[in-house]
Amino acid sequence: MVPSRFLPVLRRSVALLVGFLFLATVIPRSSAAPAAARLPNVVLIFCDDLGWGDIGCFGAKDLRTPQIDGLARSGTRFTSFYVAQAVCSASRAALLTGCYPNRLGIHGALGPNQKIGLHPDEMTIAEVLKPRGYATAMFGKWHLGRPAALLPIRQGFDEYFGLPYSNDMWPRHPSGAVGTYPPLPLIEGDRVIEEMPDQSQLTRRYTERAVDFIGRNANRPFFLYLAHSMPHVPIFAGPRFAGRSKRGVFGDVIEEIDWSVGEVLRALRRHGIEDNTLVIFTSDNGPWLSYGDHAGAAGPFREGKGTSFEGGIRVPCVMRWPGKIPKGRVSDTPLMTIDLLPTLAGIVGAPLPSRKIDGLDVLPLLRGDPGATNPHAAYFIYYHQGHLQALRSGDWKLMLPHTSQTLGGRPGGTNGIPTRYQQVPVGLELYHLASDPGETRNVIAEQPEVLSRLLLLAEEARQELGDGRTQRVGSGVREPGRVE
Ligand code: MG
Repeated sequence: MVPSRFLPVLRRSVALLVGFLFLATVIPRSSAAPAAARLPNVVLIFCDDLGWGDIGCFGAKDLRTPQIDGLARSGTRFTSFYVAQAVCSASRAALLTGCYPNRLGIHGALGPNQKIGLHPDEMTIAEVLKPRGYATAMFGKWHLGRPAALLPIRQGFDEYFGLPYSNDMWPRHPSGAVGTYPPLPLIEGDRVIEEMPDQSQLTRRYTERAVDFIGRNANRPFFLYLAHSMPHVPIFAGPRFAGRSKRGVFGDVIEEIDWSVGEVLRALRRHGIEDNTLVIFTSDNGPWLSYGDHAGAAGPFREGKGTSFEGGIRVPCVMRWPGKIPKGRVSDTPLMTIDLLPTLAGIVGAPLPSRKIDGLDVLPLLRGDPGATNPHAAYFIYYHQGHLQALRSGDWKLMLPHTSQTLGGRPGGTNGIPTRYQQVPVGLELYHLASDPGETRNVIAEQPEVLSRLLLLAEEARQELGDGRTQRVGSGVREPGRVE
């Protein structure tokens, strides 16, 4: 028996408890949020040395890329999309960290025996997304440090399978590097699982890993970084694709990459997550023109990989995110890989890295918001141990004096043996890209005001990021990762 004087208290308590239980059943809990509100998956497909003109929807006439063309029809084609530097390691550092490679102390292409790479304290896209519950994986070419302490699984990726650097860094390299490199290692996690893997199987094997990862993580948000080794020389297509295209081995390789894109899209569809997945397809730099029939094409642009002309730094880019990125649209607004990290951070509500980065959130440009403009005063193009070589600002491109490689109108090589480049001086040159995308007419004498504005921007970049050519040390430059 409850003493009668406690009865009112007991009644109130029961009423409160019943009320609480009722409210608990009608107020939705965040863990039971509808699937549509789930954070989006991100699939970043990154090709190696694929030129602006190597995809059907970017104008290639003799290659079949129906999957990438379809991706473009259901998404947006970005025709002024830039990498930060026209070579592998530096370009990849910028892609994954949102920083100019100069800021990170990463220049050019790292060699297999080098003891440096991306500093473990730098935040990659994987590290930004992970605290928001993302599963993360990378399959393919890393090229941001070969030592085990600098591999992707130390930079926020739960899983890694691939080559730690370029597929031509092997003992049989045709350039004469014979004997200086170890056999090409295929790595899983941080362990070498094969030496000198059959390169004609790489695209297929990376793709199978990607499809498997999507299947295993279809019920949670994930970030998949699929970094193909192809079409970087030496190029190889799998048996199902060899001899199938109209453009020799190079065409076969591109058509296999297109198949790979299709496999990834099919996996997303099969698991019912294609509408909640942002797919980005692009390349690390332009075509390696000295390889001739084993190289791609820069489309209407001047020069290719290893130069700061448009053919080196402007790459094909397609993004699809149903309902968010308009379908069938073409955007010519300049964008750069450095903008991906802050844009993705904004999309998922993750904080930016505490260390300074250079990229900016460009989601309004991806969405095609009316009146959206690029938030950068300019994009800066470095090369060759941190030399500031060019900048793009609006419709203008300023080339700063430097030495650049060219074939000078000679044909490239054949069958995987390159023609030698010649080195030529580039002066202070101004191009109006909107009317002259091929950088054929230097209008510097006609545009003194544009020139002085761009020179001021270049000077700001030198103060912050340095400039090896004028022997300037930038105030914002950091050290790369090193192992003893
Ligand atoms: Mg490359």
